[in-house]
Amino acid sequence: MTILPDFRYIRPANVDEAVAALAGKPGAAIIAGATDLLPNLRRGLGEPSVLIDVSAVPALALVEETADGLRIGAGVKLAELALHPVVQRDFPVIVEGALAVAGPTHRAAATVGGNLCQDTRCHFYNQSEWWRSGNEYCLKYEGDRCHVAPKTARCFATYRGDLAPALMVLGAEAEVAGPKGRRKLPLAELFQDDGAAHLKLAADEVLVAVTVPNSAKGLVGSYAKIRIRDAIDFPLVGVAAALKRDGDKIGQIRVAITGSNPCPLPISTDGLEGQPWNEATARSLADRLNKTAKFQTTTTVGMRYRRRVLLASARRLVDDLWEKAV
Ligand SMILES: Cc1cc2nc3c(=O)[nH]c(=O)nc-3n(C[C@H](O)[C@H](O)[C@H](O)COP(=O)(O)OP(=O)(O)OC[C@H]3O[C@@H](n4cnc5c(N)ncnc54)[C@H](O)[C@@H]3O)c2cc1C
Repeated sequence: MTILPDFRYIRPANVDEAVAALAGKPGAAIIAGATDLLPNLRRGLGEPSVLIDVSAVPALALVEETADGLRIGAGVKLAELALHPVVQRDFPVIVEGALAVAGPTHRAAATVGGNLCQDTRCHFYNQSEWWRSGNEYCLKYEGDRCHVAPKTARCFATYRGDLAPALMVLGAEAEVAGPKGRRKLPLAELFQDDGAAHLKLAADEVLVAVTVPNSAKGLVGSYAKIRIRDAIDFPLVGVAAALKRDGDKIGQIRVAITGSNPCPLPISTDGLEGQPWNEATARSLADRLNKTAKFQTTTTVGMRYRRRVLLASARRLVDDLWEKAV
């Protein structure tokens, strides 16, 4: 195990102080529950000059009902999120996403912001310094070749966060603070399809909260995760779905995936609304999942298997929701 790099440690008391601490320090990193960042640093993955610990910012730790919807602070711990009575009552898909993350000890420390902003993963990247140096590093960090797709000039490291798809199907918005103030954006727009730079946050921005709109209350949602060890493991693939029935037709349907691409992705459901949920509609959804999910050999588990379980899980998930939503 590599010794931690030297860094300055700053513990701001509020969001403005956190933003000010980031300003002009390109090598700085936010740290929250530390369950993703610290294991990476211990493996020599990253050398931040400054760590800005946001765990003492009270405003980030709030879950509030607002006029816009349920506002969940980026510093809320996943264990607390899963136990929150309003989340349990109105948005069980969030509870399922949060409880799918790692194990109980992780969830006691891990935060919403850290979960959403966690690094992408690849079996050529999440390795010791010794292992990586023996393989000439990789395009994501310190190397110049992607071992997964050597003929390309881009990184395919995979996003494996469990919470993002659960929030995406509810139409959640992200709230970001930076030197120019705050901005809101659909959660899906926080991400981009690049394993080496999967977040569209600027270096001097902090994720402050996510808001689940009131309109999501009528949706019935669920999250399915496939992993090697049920007790604790990243998703090989994960799929969330939320729907509302309009009698025998689909009133509204949203689907989002994780574990397949460098970022979590909503699946286009245009044209499915107004259709009955039957074999033809299920096939159409499967085609869309097939087109969007771009599996690569970023884990030891084969791409074909991951694709098959994605399709099977999505089908089972929507079948169940269809019955539940009556
Ligand atoms: C053994 C093990 C198993 C795991 N299993 C899973 C799993 O099954 N599913 C899963 O989703 N994750 C898993 N994780 C990863 C991690 O534990 C979780 O994603 C966790 O939610 C990260 O939250 P954190 O608060 O600890 O993040 P941190 O480690 O503190 O931060 C993670 C990243 O987010 C950034 N960040 C944190 N907060 C903010 C903010 N407010 N604004 C901007 N950037 C921010 C940090 O700079 C860092 O890059 C696992 C980790 C381990 C070690």
